[in-house]
Amino acid sequence: MSTRSLRTSFSQGLAFLRDHPQVWVTAGTGMIICASFIGIAYRFGSIAEHAQEEVITVRVGSILDTFVLFAPDTLAHPEVLRGHIHALREQNPTIDSFSIVAPHGSNGWRVFISDNGAKEGSVTEQVSPVLRLAYGDPVHAYTIETTEQGERYFTTARAIVASTGRVEAVAVTTQQLAESDRNIAASLVLSYYVLGGILLLSMVLFFRHARILDFARLYQKQLEIDEMKDSFLGMASHELKSPLTVIRGYIEYLQEGTLDEGTKKEFLRRIAFSADELRQLVDDILDVSRIEMGRLRFSVDRVLPHEVCEEVATMFSDEVAKKQLTLTVDIPESVRVCAVQVDRGRLKQVLVNLTSNAIKYTRQGYVRIQLREEADRIALVVQDSGIGMTAAEREKLFNKFYRIETDETKAIAGTGLGLWITKYMIEHMQGTISVESIKGEGSRFVVTTNRDPSP
Ligand code: ADP
Repeated sequence: MSTRSLRTSFSQGLAFLRDHPQVWVTAGTGMIICASFIGIAYRFGSIAEHAQEEVITVRVGSILDTFVLFAPDTLAHPEVLRGHIHALREQNPTIDSFSIVAPHGSNGWRVFISDNGAKEGSVTEQVSPVLRLAYGDPVHAYTIETTEQGERYFTTARAIVASTGRVEAVAVTTQQLAESDRNIAASLVLSYYVLGGILLLSMVLFFRHARILDFARLYQKQLEIDEMKDSFLGMASHELKSPLTVIRGYIEYLQEGTLDEGTKKEFLRRIAFSADELRQLVDDILDVSRIEMGRLRFSVDRVLPHEVCEEVATMFSDEVAKKQLTLTVDIPESVRVCAVQVDRGRLKQVLVNLTSNAIKYTRQGYVRIQLREEADRIALVVQDSGIGMTAAEREKLFNKFYRIETDETKAIAGTGLGLWITKYMIEHMQGTISVESIKGEGSRFVVTTNRDPSP
């Protein structure tokens, strides 16, 4: 897989997680369950291990306690002791070796009797420190843990005390813990398998739950869209009716035939304006249906954006004059030669939408159209000193049918489709659109498009 497709998959994954926050909840809960289960299993494992060790120590301790009671009397009869040792080993399979040792010379220990006959009579200086401890304390048994070839052993030693009170020898056993270690490890492995099963099941349940949440979200969204559609239908019929009523009214005046030339001209201009409004509305509705059916065509070409800006500014000169606003076009000399790769008609439509909104939602002050260079892109800025909007209002700004419903916007005609269409178009031409706005201060829409690299 190439770095590029890896990066694409990674960013797709991130986008998926951003759009489905419930996945975080699912994964987080899964991890908590996992960690708790491993913690509990581990804790039970150590408790079981500890308990097993206690049992072994206590059992071997009591065996040795009993053994050393009669051992002094039988020390002189090795055959009898050997018989006892064999019997004890047979009854206690975890005892790995059983010997009786006694100090020999200054440092050495001599194996007096052993269940491993070959060792009997051997002398060694390297013995477990428990022998010395046991030899020095006639009352207690001592145990230490050793590991050989990865397997754990307990060595337990207990002094054999003659009736005179003198320590004669030390009885020493080694017990293997391998068996119990294996049992505990097997139980742990089993519990991890069970954990895997539980996790799998919980994942299935969580994902089902997440899907249900998704459906709930979709349902909520659908309800919102339905509500918006209803208000759109009300608005659209009003928007269609009002210019028609205006047109009809002026036509009736004109039909009376009593008007002077100047009034006729003015009425015809108003009819043309209302017809334009109607055409704009019908165009928006047609664009929405084309977008929804995936039939909106784009023919991308090399376009000089400053020409489009100037055309649009000229288009709106009458309207800004009527509202007593100032409309300025600010294009640095260096940007005049810059071209972009877009569909010219669609770019003009985008700028018309943004400029007509800026004029519509500004009562006094200015509307400014700017062009700026930004590395390999060109930014088109439409700024106004209008009514602005709050952060919450900005969030849904590019949603279909969304209109900000306030006392200030109530009287302003609109369908809530312009910005949705604008965003769709600009993104379809590999561009971006963003907005900054302060309520009561004004708004600033920034559109960026790919720069045409050819000179
Ligand atoms: P409309 O036909 O209602 O103008 P748009 O999609 O063009 O639909 O805009 C959506 C809403 O965004 C508008 O109803 C308006 O409330 C708000 N809006 C758009 N542009 C501006 C702006 N320049 N200043 C303040 N509000 C704006």
